[in-house]
Amino acid sequence: MDQNYLAQLLFPHINLSPADIEAKFPKRILPEGAKVTRIAPSPTGFVHFGSLFPAFVSERLAHQSGGIFYLRIEDTDAKREVEGADAGIIEAFSHYQVFFDEGALLDGDNGNYGPYRQSLRAEIYQTFAKQLVLEGKAYPCFCTAEELNDIRQKQEADKLITGYYGEWAVWRDAPIEKIEAALNEGKPFVLRLRSPGNHENKLKFTDLIKGVVDITENDIDEVLLKSDGIPTYHFAHAVDDHLMGTTHVVRGEEWLSSLPKHIQIFSALGFKLPKYLHISQLMKLSEDGSKKKLSKRDNGAALADYKKMGYAPECVIEYVMTLLNSNFEEWRMQNPDTPYTEFQFSIKKMSPSGCLFDFVKLNDVSKNVISRMSAQKVYDYVSEWAQEYDKEFYSVFTNSPDYSLAILSIGRGGAKPRKDFAVWSDVKDNIDFFYDKLFLPAYPYPEKLSAEDIKLILTKYADIYDPSDDQTVWFDKIRALATDIGFAADMKEYKKNPDAFKGNVGDVSSVIRVAVTGRVNSPDMYAVLSVLGQKRVLERISSALSALN
Ligand code: GLU
Repeated sequence: MDQNYLAQLLFPHINLSPADIEAKFPKRILPEGAKVTRIAPSPTGFVHFGSLFPAFVSERLAHQSGGIFYLRIEDTDAKREVEGADAGIIEAFSHYQVFFDEGALLDGDNGNYGPYRQSLRAEIYQTFAKQLVLEGKAYPCFCTAEELNDIRQKQEADKLITGYYGEWAVWRDAPIEKIEAALNEGKPFVLRLRSPGNHENKLKFTDLIKGVVDITENDIDEVLLKSDGIPTYHFAHAVDDHLMGTTHVVRGEEWLSSLPKHIQIFSALGFKLPKYLHISQLMKLSEDGSKKKLSKRDNGAALADYKKMGYAPECVIEYVMTLLNSNFEEWRMQNPDTPYTEFQFSIKKMSPSGCLFDFVKLNDVSKNVISRMSAQKVYDYVSEWAQEYDKEFYSVFTNSPDYSLAILSIGRGGAKPRKDFAVWSDVKDNIDFFYDKLFLPAYPYPEKLSAEDIKLILTKYADIYDPSDDQTVWFDKIRALATDIGFAADMKEYKKNPDAFKGNVGDVSSVIRVAVTGRVNSPDMYAVLSVLGQKRVLERISSALSALN
């Protein structure tokens, strides 16, 4: 076969050589040990929460080593592509503070190794495809879908491995006349790799997360270019990651089974194989206690939902880091205020089996992160979230920013900050009683107290209440009030002899709490009263008294 003739026949429009292309993608000059990584999402319109995992691993590996991290949009599958989805991807990663050194932007590209959208690289792929034809390593296949189906059915009937390989690869050694005739008839063709492999050959491969894995050599004549001249993922992966200088490919483990193909395609092209890190699928615990893949339809799978649910990006990032490296939590306890980027991320601390996703842990992590934020930061986040998702609360919350800031400052800043919010949607329920517009009077007083005693406590408290009291004076006054009406001022004393008292000092504060907040639990009462202010406190006590009459 005259390969030159065939290559010209298939790719008459390709005038560049691989060397011309290589010249446009020079080897990167980087410090010793620098890693070049990327994420390569397909714009299908759905960004899975799990896609944050390869993103953070890739970003950390690159930036920890002084390397490059870039974004490539893999938009070669027109059937799955959704209009505008690339913008969704770019915005999603930017929301989670995943910053790329290079890659696709909303409009155009940033970097010298582009285009970073595969749909704009057809000529590049075809140049390498032409070269493979020239070298006899690839050939056109004109099989129709029905013909391929027939092949599969025969193989299934004979209990053979299915696929286009060996003797089943009917176009593999087709004479040039047959190829030319098919071309002349205008028949569509795909370009296939002439696989030199044998599936009897078993290989050992070292994946940097999974360790040594056994793989079977590929013997399928894999499709490199589809009939529209656009590459398959497999071929584009080899060409792009070679030209763009990727040293470490971090991707989902669903690609592990394709690795034998990739090894072969890299080898056919004469490219050095990058290192691979296959990340296990994110799992969830199902109702029967077994682990299941967190699938697209599961709650928590869509990354876009996290913003709506009110998770701050920092909280999600912290959770992802917690799942990614087993020693991150311990580091965080020792370094509560250090940016996560200072943590020494290590591939060795990644679990080769799937991480378990669960909202309880996420919320736990989130509460910790939010407890360390300044009141101003929480204020900004809550306003931003409420503006979009809870307009009524937004208007109340932002109506008097200083008041809202004072509310958010309660229990914040000390060694043991309050951990009451996991998501911004928790905030309203926690603090609504501070706002007159949202306050719903309810009076769940301690049951053991009589209406008379409650009235007495509230009336007396209104008399002694002085907003300028400091916390000690305030509490001393409550104790004095307790003693005055026959309640124990001291809990120990009360426990020793409960029958000697009508109640205790705790009951006194509970009555005040219920009257002014409408709830049984609240942050520190003294702080709550200080923030509510004299006018509101007295008004609420007075309403509570009226409700008792
Ligand atoms: N486009 C592939 C995907 O979305 C990328 C896999 C890779 O990172 O190589 O799964």
